Amino acid sequence: MGSVMIRCPETGAPIATGLQADPSTFARTPVFFSRTLCPYCRILHEWFAKDAWVEEPHAKLTCEAA
Ligand SMILES: [Zn+2]
Repeated sequence: MGSVMIRCPETGAPIATGLQADPSTFARTPVFFSRTLCPYCRILHEWFAKDAWVEEPHAKLTCEAA
C-alpha cells in the first residue's frame, strides 16, 4: 500500500490525496474522478485517476540503501 499522489497544476508540487492504494491495483482501477484540497493553493483541485500515482515509502528506502 502507498499514498495516492497528484501534482498541483499551479505549483507542480506533489500533493498527498489522503487515499491509500496498492500500486498494481490502482493501475487497473477504472477511471475515476476526485477532488483534493491543495495545501499550496488552498483550493480544491479536480483530478482523474490517470493523473495520479501511488508513492510507496518502501521503494524509496530500498533505493537509497543501495
Ligand atoms: Zn495547487
